[in-house]
Amino acid sequence: MTSNRRDFLKKSALLTAGGIGLSMLGRNMAHAAGTFEKETKIPAADGLYSLPSLPYAFDALEPHIDRQTMEIHHGKHHQAYVNNLNKAVAEIKDAPADIELLLKKFAKTNNVIRNNGGGHYNHSLFWKLMRPAYAASSANAPSGKLAEAITSAFGSVDAFKEKFAAAGKDRFGSGWAWLVADKNGKLSIGSTPNQDNPLMEMSEIKGKPVLALDVWEHAYYLKYQNKRPDYIGAWWSVVNWDEAARLYDGK
Ligand code: MN
Repeated sequence: MTSNRRDFLKKSALLTAGGIGLSMLGRNMAHAAGTFEKETKIPAADGLYSLPSLPYAFDALEPHIDRQTMEIHHGKHHQAYVNNLNKAVAEIKDAPADIELLLKKFAKTNNVIRNNGGGHYNHSLFWKLMRPAYAASSANAPSGKLAEAITSAFGSVDAFKEKFAAAGKDRFGSGWAWLVADKNGKLSIGSTPNQDNPLMEMSEIKGKPVLALDVWEHAYYLKYQNKRPDYIGAWWSVVNWDEAARLYDGK
């Protein structure tokens, strides 16, 4: 087994292990997700990277995010990023299977990797940072060290939400809003254009992602049309604060 192959297997296991495991879902939900993947998913090309399964059913985030948006967003948009990324890394000798390492090494000089590697990394994070309301193991609010850090940086959770929502709303065109932590755990809010992210050297905001919000039109247009602020307002109902706390604690 090559070291790339080993890293790839390890990475796949990590992606599956994060967030809410499929084992926690009912049979029907897993079946519903499987049926869609067989029938309408863009075929996955073999390669270093693969599309992670959604950790919940496509309709699990309704009424806040609708089923059709999730099907297209995950099965078409994210799959296309993965396929294009795999084509791009096939041209590179010894491309790292670790997506973070790949972005650090190539995002600055290779636009295909910047856009599609960014797309793969950002969406893999985004799916895990949402969860259906019934799967919450705690209140729909940050807790523990993350809650303390939010209060310390922004004054209150409400003030934080307002600032984060503004970062998403004010991002011109397509992009992402981010909550990131620096090495000392200090939090800050910012946004990136397109599929850039805070791991990339050219990003204005840098640090370890704790929350990520996709504000591309494809993330909300079917249900919310031009009303991006309404989508952002509804998104708070499906934020997976347990996963955000896990990212913040570095576990
Ligand atoms: Mn997207």
